Amino acid sequence: MANYGIHAIFSSLQGEGRNVGRPATFIRFSGCNLACQWCDTHKDERMSLTERQIVDKVKEFDNKSVIVTGGEPSIQRDLDVLVRALKDAGMWVALETNGVRAPVCQDLFDYISVSPKANYFSRYMENVMIRKANEVRIVAVTDEIASFCKTMRERISADDYYISPLDTDGRIHYRRALNLLVKVNKNSPDAMPPWSLSIQMHKVIGIR
Ligand code: SF4
Repeated sequence: MANYGIHAIFSSLQGEGRNVGRPATFIRFSGCNLACQWCDTHKDERMSLTERQIVDKVKEFDNKSVIVTGGEPSIQRDLDVLVRALKDAGMWVALETNGVRAPVCQDLFDYISVSPKANYFSRYMENVMIRKANEVRIVAVTDEIASFCKTMRERISADDYYISPLDTDGRIHYRRALNLLVKVNKNSPDAMPPWSLSIQMHKVIGIR
């Protein structure tokens, strides 16, 4: 039986993107293949659980949807085994990933959110990155990353593209996100501009 590095399993509402406000159980893995400046994932406590223990814990909550998030789920060696176990338990399973490396079991997921990180631009030029998703969400670390956003839109085929405000030490940088939103939508040939704002609803209303 495989083991997974887990930080937490909990029930909440999806806070971002198209499924905002929908109840789900979150499986939050520990560890990541990137080290973004503002992120404290490396400080996360970690427990080691088998897929059976994870599925049993997920079943304790009254949700049929599961969001596999991190940290970075794709670095879990046996991610496919866990996703299959969750699907066998009747769950709808979504993935949240930084997208640097497409998981081999990508097709098992019902929904994929990719959050590329602008400070790792060169990593997203490699062939192993994810190229297809349901939505792309980019954190506005500065409002000077419009070219990164446009490149990610070219490299990742998705239905929706979002700009999210950065949260540092409890301060949410909305203005930066709005400035970037204007830049990425500027000169769009489409009647409906491609990028929209994704406010992290869970932080605004004070839930996990
Ligand atoms: S990709 Fe996400 S989890 Fe990984 S270091 Fe960056 S913010 Fe943290």
